[in-house]
Amino acid sequence: MAVIDTDTIVIGAGPVGLFQVFQLGLLGLNTHVIDALPEAGGQCVALYPDKPIYDVPGVPVCTGRELAQLLLVQAKPFLTRNLASGHIANLHLNDQVASVQPLADGGFEIATRQGLQFRCRAVFVAAGAGAFVPRSLNVATLEGAANVHFYLPEAPAPAPWAAQHLVIAGGGEEALSTVAALIDSPLEVRPASLTLLHRRDQFQADPALEASVRAWIAQGRVKLALGLPSGADLQDGRVTALQVLGADGATHALPLDHLLIRLGLSPKLGPLVDWGLQLDRKQVSVSPDSFQSSVSGIYAVGDINTYPGKKRLLLCGFHEATLAAHHAVAQLRPDQPQHLQYTTTSTLLHQRLGLA
Ligand SMILES: Cc1cc2nc3c(=O)[nH]c(=O)nc-3n(C[C@H](O)[C@H](O)[C@H](O)COP(=O)(O)OP(=O)(O)OC[C@H]3O[C@@H](n4cnc5c(N)ncnc54)[C@H](O)[C@@H]3O)c2cc1C
Repeated sequence: MAVIDTDTIVIGAGPVGLFQVFQLGLLGLNTHVIDALPEAGGQCVALYPDKPIYDVPGVPVCTGRELAQLLLVQAKPFLTRNLASGHIANLHLNDQVASVQPLADGGFEIATRQGLQFRCRAVFVAAGAGAFVPRSLNVATLEGAANVHFYLPEAPAPAPWAAQHLVIAGGGEEALSTVAALIDSPLEVRPASLTLLHRRDQFQADPALEASVRAWIAQGRVKLALGLPSGADLQDGRVTALQVLGADGATHALPLDHLLIRLGLSPKLGPLVDWGLQLDRKQVSVSPDSFQSSVSGIYAVGDINTYPGKKRLLLCGFHEATLAAHHAVAQLRPDQPQHLQYTTTSTLLHQRLGLA
């Protein structure tokens, strides 16, 4: 795959990463942003999409998902849509930055798990508490199996489990709402059978959702399998059955065609610890005037950084992204004097915003 050349890379499309894209764009620096999640918005979307936020300046109240949408709309002038595919060409979701290597010319080479490679001149780590990755079952042999899934396919992609036997693992909101989404899905994508696998007969979900799922179980439309997965049978790289340890102490085989694990997400700091940045208790140490890390040209903004007086609040992350962008542009364009300009009155900023 060709190496993508860009001024800057933003690692993390959480609220702070999205605002970082906007600030870099305003200052005339192009960027690519990468996130492990299938959707932009970080914690706001992954952890509290429907909860209200009351302390974003100028926005008296909005939900986590609404804030992510507003930030995407604000960054739109700097997110380039590929006209053929409709996808945003410089927003790479479902991918994790694996390595950040300094180059002899002062730039950086960035590689992702999906095999993308970038060359850039400054890096903005907006990684929050780490990359959000789906929780899995504690069965090592499941890793990499072709019929184990963590996300629902994005429409119009066909569901791999259509007309086949699907086991959904989990007992929380995410697992139960997946059952609800699939039970009446169109015939061509509906599984032949749906089994809900959970370790005990207790769910943690909205009472109305739980009542619906319990009714489907009573009607035989959903099978309930209780117990702890302790192993898996594999054939040709596919899981054919889970071994489930029941409350009776016996292990039972649960045959399946596809396994959809819906146990929620957990943040993993992952490869970031190997990027040579000075860390203080899993946070990247930065200087509070520039938000630059111990490596010149690598900035850290939002929940991932630490400095005296740090508060893990959206407002603080937005401030950090703004100052980091201003510091970076001054470093990258030393021959161009950088005058502070207002979006209200600057013709240049209007041009960059696509207004002029
Ligand atoms: C329940 C709850 C309620 C909250 N309410 C408020 C509130 O009312 N007001 C307020 O100000 N703050 C609130 N917060 C805090 C606020 O959500 C965080 O401060 C904010 O989300 C931090 O944004 P961020 O972009 O730095 O990190 P995140 O939102 O954590 O986003 C980081 C993103 O980086 C991605 N990432 C990390 N590493 C990699 C990698 N190597 N490769 C690719 N992607 C990677 C992650 O997948 C993630 O999407 C709340 C937090 C929670 C949990």
